[in-house]
Amino acid sequence: MPFSPTPDHGPRPDFDAAIDFARDLIRIPGLSGDEESVCRRVLAEYERLDLLDIRHDEWGNAIGRVAGLDPGAPAVMVNAHLDVVAAGDPEAWEHPPFAAELADGCLHGRGAMDIKGPLALLTHGAAALAGRTPGDVWVVHTVFEERGGLGMHRLLESGEVRPDAVLIGESTHGDICIGHRGRAEVEVVLKGRAGHASAPDRARNALELVPAVLDAVERVAAHQPTDAALGPATLVPTSIDVLPESRNVIPDRVTVVLDWRILPGMKDEDLLATIRRAITERIGSHGPPGDLGWEVRMATERQRTWTGHEEERSVFMPGFGVARDHPVVVAAAEAVGRRGERGPARVRPWAFATDGGWSCGTFDIPTIGFAPGEERHAHTNTECLDLDEAAWALQRIPRLLLAMQEGLAG
Ligand SMILES: [Zn+2]
Repeated sequence: MPFSPTPDHGPRPDFDAAIDFARDLIRIPGLSGDEESVCRRVLAEYERLDLLDIRHDEWGNAIGRVAGLDPGAPAVMVNAHLDVVAAGDPEAWEHPPFAAELADGCLHGRGAMDIKGPLALLTHGAAALAGRTPGDVWVVHTVFEERGGLGMHRLLESGEVRPDAVLIGESTHGDICIGHRGRAEVEVVLKGRAGHASAPDRARNALELVPAVLDAVERVAAHQPTDAALGPATLVPTSIDVLPESRNVIPDRVTVVLDWRILPGMKDEDLLATIRRAITERIGSHGPPGDLGWEVRMATERQRTWTGHEEERSVFMPGFGVARDHPVVVAAAEAVGRRGERGPARVRPWAFATDGGWSCGTFDIPTIGFAPGEERHAHTNTECLDLDEAAWALQRIPRLLLAMQEGLAG
């Protein structure tokens, strides 16, 4: 069957229904690990939109599918996340964070832009392709994105869904985003022997090693690689935790925390090896004097999904970058265009990290971003979604998904 992607005469997703769905989602708060009610509301919308294979997986990701007409055609996946960050003091919001108010041409509240508004637009935009898409369109919204991306990581590792390209709905203000730096949290743990501060001779003060560690880190930070699109990797110490915390005790345990914004391909074991080498060079290969010791490791966090799956995870989100001239990027920028102007969409990286670090940085699936909304409102108490921009974006999503498939098919 000849397939003609002429979206102006093509499917028209229902904007009002999408915004009603987004408002429902904003009224259901759900931090990472507490996404069950949000997931169930998303699955109900899938039912309403007649998606296929509707289910959640063992990690609590919401999965649905729009069937492709040609089993050999490439499949794409649209993706947003089910969790939001905390709202903080509700009094600090002009519009209450979970009321989903419509005012001044905007939808207001926690998640309006990051990411429940775009989640609703992607879902409705994808559903509008039923009966018109060559390849499958997976609609998968993941858990724990705000805490490192457990949901996307495990989803793609499981092979339950195998898309050939991914579209992520983190805000791009209508641009096509093609990557970002990743983030790793590294800990340098210094060990000594605790003792009363009145008798320093009987203790070994773990703080003694701090200057050497900071110096070693500074040397590594001064030689970070740069990526043409994403800029330099950066490394900076952000915290020093001391145990015991009492100020009249000489500590036996000091943890220096490093925030490392990494480029694609920088792996956690390489980061650790680099810091170990720099510290060894700084304090000498014989190690620190006396009873002092040190260790370099990834910071970890215990996470539990709403389905009961539990794991200890490194605080590590890979970076990724797709080439500007990748056929999917070129086709996407053409299909979206520039709002109110001629020519293709701007192509640029994001300033923040997304689940694309997993889909592209780790699983090598070409991944791009497109969504309405300005990045500066994310995670703030002024979070809002401009409704005109959202309506424009929704209209573009079906044609964007078809263009991505065409780009993949070459
Ligand atoms: Zn987000």
